[in-house]
This record gives sequence, structure tokens and C-alpha cells, in this order.
Amino acid sequence: MATVRTGGCLCGAIRYESAGEPVFALQCHCRDCQRQSGSAYVAAVRVPMVEFRITKGTPKRYIAKADSGNDITRVFCPDCGSPLYVQVSTRPDLVGIRVASFDDPSWFRPEADIFVQSAQPWDYMDPKLPKYPTYPPGKSYEPGVRE
Ligand SMILES: [Zn+2]
Ligand SMILES: [Zn+2]
Repeated sequence: MATVRTGGCLCGAIRYESAGEPVFALQCHCRDCQRQSGSAYVAAVRVPMVEFRITKGTPKRYIAKADSGNDITRVFCPDCGSPLYVQVSTRPDLVGIRVASFDDPSWFRPEADIFVQSAQPWDYMDPKLPKYPTYPPGKSYEPGVRE
């Protein structure tokens, strides 16, 4: 039976649940993730959209254009501003959940550091994890596109 993982924003207005097994667990060091999180990187898991649902509230969406012209939708709480997940227009079957928004984020085991080309000099990274300048081969939404 699948593990149902629940999560939500800081103020509790938005709640979600995800029953899908993660297909990729990553730490993204791109500038957009830095700016949205206010920190060095974002820890995220990509899970199947079909097994993800909002159970409470209506989140707000901010859509940014990637260099390719693809839409990157960043979904967050309109009340407290907590980032919750991202969706990419080319991969509507996946949702990239911000790991720290889970009620229990302790199970997360990152597989890779991505977009390390824009990592900050004060950003300490685990030397044992694989590092990729942008997307790892085979894991991209689209090659060379900023997440
Ligand atoms: Zn909130
Ligand atoms: Zn990013």
C-alpha cells in the first residue's frame, strides 16, 4: 500500500496529501529557487500529479517563464506565503513538492544537487552527492531549462 504523506503551509490554510512514490529527490540551487525560498537551495521531491491533491484551501499561483518559454508555476499559500510545490507546463504529470512543507520531512534522502552552477559560495553541499551544473541527464523537464 502506498504511503500517504500529508503537508501544508505555515498558517494551516492550505493542506495537501500525496500518495505517490517520489520519482526524483533533489536539492535545487538555481537562482529562482534561492529567491523564492530566501535560502541557499530548495529540497524537493517529484511525485506523480495523479496521486497528489489539495485537501484544504485554495493556493495562489505564480507563473514564471523559463528561458525556453515554458511556464513554471510556483504554488504557495496566499495568507502566509509558504512555498508548497511547482509544476512545469511540459510535465503536467509531475508535481515538485517542497520537502519542508510535509508534516514529516525527515524521510527525505536527496539523490543529487542540481543547478550547482548558480550555487552560492556560502552554500555547503554534501560532497558524497552527485552534482550537476543544471539538470542531471534523463531527469530534466527539458534539457538546459531553468527549473
Ligand atoms: Zn498559509
Ligand atoms: Zn530551482
